[in-house]
Amino acid sequence: MDKKVYDLIDSYRDEYVETLRRWVNVPSVKGAPAEKAPFGSEVRRMLDTAMEDARKLGFETRDFDGYACDITLGDAAEKIAVLGHLDVVPVGDGWTKPPFEGVIEDGKMYGRGTNDDKGPTLAALYAMRAIRDAGIPLKRSIRMILGCDEESGWEDMEYYGKHEQIPEVGFSPDAMFPLINTEKGMLVLELRAPAAKEGLKILEFATGNMHNVIPGECNALVEGGEELAEKVRRFAKITGLPYSAEVTDRGVRLTAIGIPGHAAYPKGRRNAIGMMLLLLFRLGAKGLIGPLATAVGLETNGRSLGCAIQDAVSKALTCNMGILRLKDGEWYGTLDFRCPVTANQEKLIETVAAHLPGISIKVETQKPAHHVPAESELVQCLLAAYNEETGETGEAMSTGGGTYAKILKQGVAYGAMFPDEEDLAHQADEYTKIDSMIKATKIFANALIRLCAE
Ligand SMILES: [Zn+2]
Repeated sequence: MDKKVYDLIDSYRDEYVETLRRWVNVPSVKGAPAEKAPFGSEVRRMLDTAMEDARKLGFETRDFDGYACDITLGDAAEKIAVLGHLDVVPVGDGWTKPPFEGVIEDGKMYGRGTNDDKGPTLAALYAMRAIRDAGIPLKRSIRMILGCDEESGWEDMEYYGKHEQIPEVGFSPDAMFPLINTEKGMLVLELRAPAAKEGLKILEFATGNMHNVIPGECNALVEGGEELAEKVRRFAKITGLPYSAEVTDRGVRLTAIGIPGHAAYPKGRRNAIGMMLLLLFRLGAKGLIGPLATAVGLETNGRSLGCAIQDAVSKALTCNMGILRLKDGEWYGTLDFRCPVTANQEKLIETVAAHLPGISIKVETQKPAHHVPAESELVQCLLAAYNEETGETGEAMSTGGGTYAKILKQGVAYGAMFPDEEDLAHQADEYTKIDSMIKATKIFANALIRLCAE
């Protein structure tokens, strides 16, 4: 890449930091809809801030009624898309830094959205700025589309797509480098079964609100006394897992402590519902407890459900039980599968049903997998840019998560976390390293020049 481009990007550094801080200052969490603000007033304010900053940099911007905006460089008919988002998830617990101030310590800016996705989005915008300021002629124009509903229902891109043609090729800087060209399919199954009339009596059980979260704690109230509590302590000892039992005047309160996380990334996590199923089964619970404990339990690869499938581009299937509740004599639960590209989802549903006798199964959500061939011009250009800027030999990867990339016919996720960095998206003390964002800006510029320059 031309030295001029590097110099320009280095010269933007202070302005990048100041702008990102202003963006982080806007708590763009989804709120009550208002006119031209379908996702609430703070998200609207964030959209206005981003468009105003882009206009100050000399770009043309268009507002799609508060759902999204676009920012375009160049006038060639053929376009490369860059898809980012301006909304953030709620703050949550455990912060030791102020979540919306953008304080910098040791070269890291802390705040909700610094990493997901304001920092990377702004880096991509500054890459466009460098290409423009360097006067590089373009044979394809660059269309950045910034959505306002990525963290919820993706209504932003749906609205945008109804009012404007979405380019076919592009990337979303909303994940990690080097590049993700495969997003597994998603299958969420709803499970229902009547409460058992015999066996251990379960009085209360309600864990989880989201199918895509690995629950970190699970509680249940069961009939029994000190004798049962002693069995629980013994089970904790045998398994080495953190279970506890407290005898109350209504029964024994059982607690299982897992390791929470995202359904698509079960490695190193432990599902607290799975733990509780194993315990209840041991204590003699009947009904759906037996099949779920034996066919799911603590497994995350679907092996005992008969669906431990994998393929070369997507790697292994993952399975997570995010919700399990007992209400009015009926159980309700969810199983969230992230399926390899080659998986036959219909067959998978049948297999799961056959392994869970007595449990009725319904499809709650079903999304196909997304894959862009590694040999495509897009993947080759993006990897070449990453490799040139880092000196590494990056390879295309697969994920069970999802980004806007799958909205594009040929879309991949590209940056802006580096492979050795810890991912604090959606967590407490989210931060981004300023040096990494400047480096990401150079990678994005390099990639866009490869794809778009004459
Ligand atoms: Zn994101």
